[in-house]
Amino acid sequence: MTPMDGFSAEELFTKKNGFTYNDFIILPGFIDFAPDEVSLESRLTRNIMLKSPLVSSPMDTVTEHKMAIGLALLGGIGIVHYNNTIDEQVAQIRKVKRFENGFITEPIVLSPENTIADIDAIKEKYGFSGIPITVDGKLNSKLVGIVTNRDTDFETDRMKKLSEVMTKELLTAGKGLSLSEANQILKQSKKGKLPIVDGKGCLIAFMCRNDLVKNREYPLASKDSRKQLMVGAAISTKEESIDRLDALVEAGVNVVVIDSAQGNSVYQIEMIRYIKKKYPEIEVMGGNVVTQEQCENLIKAGADSLRIGMGPGSICTTQMTMSVGRAQATAIYKTAKFAKGQSVPVIADGGISTIGHISKALSIGASAVMMGSMFAGTQEAPGEYFYENGIRLKKYRGMASVEAMEAGGSKRYFAEEAKIKVAQGVSGAVVDKGSLFDYVPYLIQGLKHSFQDMGTKDITALHGRLYSGDLRFELRSPSAQLEGGVHDMYSYKEPKYM
Ligand code: GDP
Ligand code: 5GP
Repeated sequence: MTPMDGFSAEELFTKKNGFTYNDFIILPGFIDFAPDEVSLESRLTRNIMLKSPLVSSPMDTVTEHKMAIGLALLGGIGIVHYNNTIDEQVAQIRKVKRFENGFITEPIVLSPENTIADIDAIKEKYGFSGIPITVDGKLNSKLVGIVTNRDTDFETDRMKKLSEVMTKELLTAGKGLSLSEANQILKQSKKGKLPIVDGKGCLIAFMCRNDLVKNREYPLASKDSRKQLMVGAAISTKEESIDRLDALVEAGVNVVVIDSAQGNSVYQIEMIRYIKKKYPEIEVMGGNVVTQEQCENLIKAGADSLRIGMGPGSICTTQMTMSVGRAQATAIYKTAKFAKGQSVPVIADGGISTIGHISKALSIGASAVMMGSMFAGTQEAPGEYFYENGIRLKKYRGMASVEAMEAGGSKRYFAEEAKIKVAQGVSGAVVDKGSLFDYVPYLIQGLKHSFQDMGTKDITALHGRLYSGDLRFELRSPSAQLEGGVHDMYSYKEPKYM
């Protein structure tokens, strides 16, 4: 048999040097399938699968509800930051959870005595205006009508009572229907809303036709068992996190990320234990870690997933300031290899700036990637665009930049009480990337082509080849890296996305 060309990952990463994405290349495999046959389904945690292995960072210039909704619809997940009050973070989570539903088991209900202005306020806060009306404005009470925007949009007197505008002839469905039966009724009725009532005509749930449309348009969407979009939230290891955690769980969060730059601490171990004891059904992502010893401690404490990276972030100055950290590719390979023995997936966090970096992270053992700068320039990231030298930009800042710490972001770095705060990040701007709904499909398609070149149809198979030594790699010399970029051009136009 011809000896295999190149090197296994084990051979590559057993050197004394730490390597990162640009230091190595993956050798091509054999193609016998089309890119569209590639599946990027992967594990975010022990028990959560994603159709697209893409996660947005818990940073105040990256993930609030718009990012989390967009990414979840496209098969990934957003982790809402905690550089805010508990109420503010919870409101973000609620918006994501309310965005799409199967049966809405706790719909907003009003009474005939409420006014159109009350509907306007709900529209402003939650974004919808189709409201079931019960005798006393409570769930589980007798349904007497429904108000949709067709009943209110041309009404000039917003103080009018709902009893005067509501539709009273209602199509309802009885208790005990399956979701697909209820969907069938919604489809056939051509109505926008379907209240579900019990034998006595009391409202017990509600359904929206638009959810069927969303379901059709976003087949990759990351949803939980209630057909609601999945979302994560970051918390720190500080005292206030106990209350924050309770409120986030109550709002329906699916995964809690314990956000710490150096996760191997007694505080984090205690926090993971506390969460897993109190809320065993909530998935906990621990981190950040970069060595096998760190992984071992957090896995023992009960972590369902690990976030890998110390210092590779685009906005990060940790390795320069603290001299502690690890080159990202080595960190991923070592931690992934260790954690797979315990069935815990690792998430490559930071330092990703191209589609190729995502493929490389997955090829050396990561189950998903977490990105800040890649998403910070999209429309769905918080903040407004501005212009500098004629270029459209959005602000992007490290959570340990002086600016973010002053706004409350120092919890991640054990620096809240410190009189002198040492920055471990910078604040700046990234270029406009347009909408997530154009950008993420481009990333996904690019990844599928990359998998085709590697000759591997899915992430499980990729990891199988990684650990059997069948997936081959090579280090790149500095000139090989130059050769791999665009060179010897007088001028050229960069593609919109890389
Ligand atoms: P509307 O016509 O203004 O009510 O809005 P749509 O029907 O276009 O969208 C309503 C969306 O909000 C659907 O995806 C619902 O699942 C979601 N939603 C979440 N909670 C509620 C709720 O309590 N009432 C209503 N009407 N929709 C909700
Ligand atoms: P990026 O995708 O932009 O390269 O990196 C994003 C990641 O950097 C985040 O997910 C987080 O782990 C990390 N990070 C965010 N803010 C800071 C910071 O101020 N300092 C450091 N050291 N890391 C940061």
